[in-house]
Amino acid sequence: MYRPRLLTPGPVELHPKALEALARPQLHHRSEAARKIFLQAKAGLEAAFKTQGQVLILTGSGTAAMDALVQNLFAPGARVLVPVHGNFSERWAKIATEAGLEVVRLNLEWGRVVRPEHLESAQGPFDGLLLTHSESSTGALNDVRTLAQAFKARFPESLVVVDAITSLFVSEFELEGWGLDAAACGSQKGIMCPPGLGYAALSPRAIERLKPRGFYLNLASELKAQSSGESAWTPAINLVAATAAVLEELLPRLPEHIALKRQQNEILYATGQELSLKPVPEVKSPATTCFYLPEGVSYAQVKEAFAVRGATIIGGQGQLKGRVFRLSLMGYSDLYDAYAVAQMMREALRFG
Ligand SMILES: *Cc1c(COP(=O)(O)O)cnc(C)c1O
Repeated sequence: MYRPRLLTPGPVELHPKALEALARPQLHHRSEAARKIFLQAKAGLEAAFKTQGQVLILTGSGTAAMDALVQNLFAPGARVLVPVHGNFSERWAKIATEAGLEVVRLNLEWGRVVRPEHLESAQGPFDGLLLTHSESSTGALNDVRTLAQAFKARFPESLVVVDAITSLFVSEFELEGWGLDAAACGSQKGIMCPPGLGYAALSPRAIERLKPRGFYLNLASELKAQSSGESAWTPAINLVAATAAVLEELLPRLPEHIALKRQQNEILYATGQELSLKPVPEVKSPATTCFYLPEGVSYAQVKEAFAVRGATIIGGQGQLKGRVFRLSLMGYSDLYDAYAVAQMMREALRFG
């Protein structure tokens, strides 16, 4: 008998503090109690992103934060470089195209990471660079700090915007310290809350450069409202309360938590190696594993082998659909869980 478990890179197993917060009576979002919680969540997120700027809490998923950043930091016609090496970096290209930007794609094989040499090959000038820190569709981790540095050496006026959706709380991250201007995250990933919030981080430089547009995701309206603990529209206040509650416990021990996530992922990759599974990413993100399917085995078979053991896993997206499977312990879990999942891999992946 198995308890149902999510081993997916979002949504994830919830933190008990999130569950506790969600069980509280409904708050009115324009009450003093709600404002206090909102400001607590906002300050906690600013500490997590390591920014002296502001983190805006948006009701929507991680993509809402990505969309809001592109729309509010670049005017239509702005020229941005987008390295594409997976499903989520592809999403940056789609969002920017939809926002009327001139998108210069840098196509790399899925699973690869972006190197400064790749950026060098792109013909400027550019107003911005859109990067994916942890490309969850392939399990690859980019060195966004080095990339931002290399890009800004050539285009000092540009803005570097990062999808940190599966890297924040899972891997080291710094906004201004790494030369980044803005970043996005979502509630159903490393922070172990339910889906429903997008977090949009703006450095002081990005705040100065804001070119607000749009109605619902207008960041100038949000900056104004959120500085006093409200938001322009009715926020998912219950999820904001869950965010605040988890941060209170997580922030003081973030370095240990990040070390745990790395160790868990190493255990799963080591088990994959023992089973002769071929990893997809060139540089491994601690947020998820991504393995090619064994010869002659379908994703449906692997999925079912985990499902009978209570676990939900996930397959490939885009061009990796039907070719890979992914496992993640980004959610609430410890080393014990990693060893249990490793043993389950040995049992579930015994085919033929
Ligand atoms: C989950 C995820 C997103 C956002 O997806 P939503 O469904 O909008 O929350 C974006 N980028 C990465 C790398 C992700 O893992």
